Amino acid sequence: MTRARAEIVVELPLIRHNVEVLRAHTGVGMMTVVKADGYGHGLVPAAVAARQGGADWLGVATIDEALDLRAAGDTGRVLCWLGVPGEDYAAAIAADVDVTAYSVAELAEVTAGVRASGRRARLQLKVDTGLSRGGAPLDTWPDVVAEARAGEERGDWTVTGIWSHFACSDEPDHPANDDQEAAFRAALSTAEAAGLRPEVRHLANSAAAILRPSSRFDLVRCGLASYGLDPAPGHTPDLGLVPAMFAFADLAMVKRIGAGAGVSYGHTWHADEATTVGLVPVGYGDGIPRHAGNRAEVMVGDRRRPVRGRICMDQFVVDLDGDRPSAGDRVRIFGSGLWGEPTAQDWAEACDTISYEIVTRIGGRFARRYNDEETSR
Ligand SMILES: *Cc1c(COP(=O)(O)O)cnc(C)c1O
Repeated sequence: MTRARAEIVVELPLIRHNVEVLRAHTGVGMMTVVKADGYGHGLVPAAVAARQGGADWLGVATIDEALDLRAAGDTGRVLCWLGVPGEDYAAAIAADVDVTAYSVAELAEVTAGVRASGRRARLQLKVDTGLSRGGAPLDTWPDVVAEARAGEERGDWTVTGIWSHFACSDEPDHPANDDQEAAFRAALSTAEAAGLRPEVRHLANSAAAILRPSSRFDLVRCGLASYGLDPAPGHTPDLGLVPAMFAFADLAMVKRIGAGAGVSYGHTWHADEATTVGLVPVGYGDGIPRHAGNRAEVMVGDRRRPVRGRICMDQFVVDLDGDRPSAGDRVRIFGSGLWGEPTAQDWAEACDTISYEIVTRIGGRFARRYNDEETSR
């Protein structure tokens, strides 16, 4: 096998490990969120690893993602939650996927899917407790609940879950967390008074699952932490989670540049003195954020090396500070950090974003390879 010039290596045993750690820490049902191609780690391989680690549920945004899991042979519980008008609910219902409704109009669409599929649906209801994104606004919640109960009595569906989502769980002391949890408890009471008896009530994403025991209810929905990244930097205790994604490239070229040389487009960096630079053959076309120009670092040999100048579409330049590694030597762009290399969190900090965006957007011409053996990287 020829080695890829640039590759993402996903260590599946680390995803398994992280799911096991999160299960043990939270002590409730575990949903591993594998939307957006498993946060860039690969939908199906991440899902398989999560199931092996003990995930009771898988969570995705779209029906298509849920159907891809079924096509790959996953037969466990799967929840999806972001429908648009005209969505193919019949396909989801026929595939035994739990679907989510936010409104009475959406319930009517699910009813049409029930008629078309000839099957009873598994339906969850999402209430907006303060994120002001998806979910039923609180003033519509009694109507949504009443219609959901009526549909149960008609035999159209079973309401399997009631849930909501935090706005500020990465800031554990933010007052919105208490407010949202209280609103969620009130919404559950309304549903119970209307006769609904959901199998799972859930509110917590990774940060809340780790940091806010009162928000765990029956099930937690862990995305980012399952991939070993920190959902609340500065707040998360060390649970032994390990990042599972590693980005590598081979140095395309190494050369000397003289004192005063300007580097990359716009000459936003000049060498104070003569140095050596290395050319890394990936760029923003491959998901390396352009905002990281002059800010991020990579590892070459046993040292961190700063990015110099702008990141281009296909390539960027790093300062080797007089060292002369060979063209073809490996560049560790990011990884677990256990070898001294930067992490996706370091890259996120270098460009004022979150690690979610770093791992989800990486792709382009990187090859992706899965390692399923228990090695350490
Ligand atoms: C993406 C998502 C999650 C997972 O969030 P993390 O912070 O990655 O754990 C949970 N619930 C919903 C509704 C989501 O959209």
